[in-house]
Amino acid sequence: MKNRKLLARLRKILALDPVIEEILLADRPLEDKRLALRGHLANLLLHSQDGDRELPSLEWITCRDAVSVLRTILNTRSEELAGFSLLHYLETLLHEPGQCPVPPSTDFLAELTHLFRGISGQASIYTEKPPAFLRHTGRTAARLRSADLSRMARGARAMAMRYPCGMDEELVRQHSRNRQRLFEFFGITDLEWNDWHWHTGHIVRSASRLRELVALSDEEFAAIEAARANRIPFGITPYYVSLMDADNTGAWDRAIRAQVLPPGQYVERMTLQREDPDCSQDFMAESDTSPIDGITRRYPQIVILKPILTCPQICVYCQRNWQIQDVFSPDAALGERKLDRALDWIEKTREISEVLVTGGDPLLLADDQLERILARLAQMDHVLRIRIGTRTPVTLPQRITDSLVRAITRFHEPGRREILIVTHFEHPTEITPEAMQAVQRFRLFGVEVYNQLVFTYYNSRKFETAALRQRLRLIGVTPYYTFNAKGKEETDLYRVPIARLLQEQQEEARLFPGTVRTDEIVFNVPRLGKNYLRAGQNRDVIAILPDGRRVYEFHPWEKKLALMNTYVYTDVSIYRYLRRLKADGEQPGDYRSIWYYY
Ligand code: SF4
Repeated sequence: MKNRKLLARLRKILALDPVIEEILLADRPLEDKRLALRGHLANLLLHSQDGDRELPSLEWITCRDAVSVLRTILNTRSEELAGFSLLHYLETLLHEPGQCPVPPSTDFLAELTHLFRGISGQASIYTEKPPAFLRHTGRTAARLRSADLSRMARGARAMAMRYPCGMDEELVRQHSRNRQRLFEFFGITDLEWNDWHWHTGHIVRSASRLRELVALSDEEFAAIEAARANRIPFGITPYYVSLMDADNTGAWDRAIRAQVLPPGQYVERMTLQREDPDCSQDFMAESDTSPIDGITRRYPQIVILKPILTCPQICVYCQRNWQIQDVFSPDAALGERKLDRALDWIEKTREISEVLVTGGDPLLLADDQLERILARLAQMDHVLRIRIGTRTPVTLPQRITDSLVRAITRFHEPGRREILIVTHFEHPTEITPEAMQAVQRFRLFGVEVYNQLVFTYYNSRKFETAALRQRLRLIGVTPYYTFNAKGKEETDLYRVPIARLLQEQQEEARLFPGTVRTDEIVFNVPRLGKNYLRAGQNRDVIAILPDGRRVYEFHPWEKKLALMNTYVYTDVSIYRYLRRLKADGEQPGDYRSIWYYY
């Protein structure tokens, strides 16, 4: 019965393009069908280009994109790479449903529906008529257009305003109340609170201590306990605890909690992976790109130097969770001899013009340790730029002391060498007066501060990252990269379909001035480095799996320079993502065009 229903739904989808339906239902060899489908798809485009042009231009573009995706999926090369043949799967479903090993999921049928709607020019993305100003000229057109643009801006602003910022009066008051409670709990004053050593000495490392400070659900409590029992790094600075909603109402600190409270599913998977000797957690294959301890190299002129492998707290989705053993652990520094060798290596490798000093968080080193590293790098005349990757402005702004700022900024010499700070704000709630002060301390010395954002489920709602960019610029931070959350199995709950990143850029970021949307959206290809998602020619959709997930083939950044390998990646299901958003109170209609981003 269930099968009959599924089959009926599938037939309804195929009927969106009667020619495809006829080909697939015919009693012919599979390879004949492949040829016939290819011919039909080519004709479809030719006809719409050269024959009647009934489709409005934008519908035609959606149709062209959908046709191109299906054509790529039908390639035998795509099938081999993805390890799955959509054509063969449909053939089995239609002609021998009893033989089908995996029934199609609702997610799969939703993907197929939208693909066929696109192909048949029925995407229905546009619910309104063409804007009135297109029918006018001169001042009338300009006024109508201006009114439309104002409406658009008001809509964008209203959506962005849904996300409270730590600079808003109400949240400043809330944070101040939280701080007062922590003062009373720990018996401290401003003196201790403003001392970063006090914070690192009081990192909250257990569920029971955290529960004394803020309300925790039973699931949150149990997951932290399990993480500790399985030696999965967990810890939160008292400052970051003060950004949490003490009553756990779920109204405004969702992103903050998601950042540091490991979900139960994450703990389970991490534990299993650690027990499996064949499983590597080094998702980015950094061990294959490290010519010497402490160094990672993926680009011709840039290297990563990792002098310390710990942070004051751990982001659950951290790509270095395979290397970071614990929060603020004393033995996480690289060690003097290894560090010297890594610096010697940079000195000898004169092609390097930029060094990213990261970790972990290098600002956990003492001022003089960090200064020594920077001084060595500054002696190398081929090093023109030193980037310091740190999340302390967000997690521990007290660390940005006058002496630290002096130790860093003295190497910033306009015309000779540039020092940059790259930080990691994830949500407007993290932007506070303290964080702004930390940023401004660098800016006062001409040192720019950039932001790298990881696009996760918890900051992916409509206009959520647009709100973040807008606020970041106001405190002196320039948006730099937005990363797709890594396809690591243990952080599935954080992953967002690539289509959503593309949609965010096109439909949300684009409504804000260019001075605000300065970030580049990227997919980090293991071993090779960043693939720029903005350029569609850097990837292809090569399959849609029965569970509704798209399979992509990503091209390496140096694709026209060297004969590298491509990278095959299975995304998360769009349908499941939308269902989750809906359960969290979002309107799926606000995201309806997501299906047509590939
Ligand atoms: S700040 Fe960076 S290195 Fe540290 S835990 Fe977060 S993602 Fe990992």
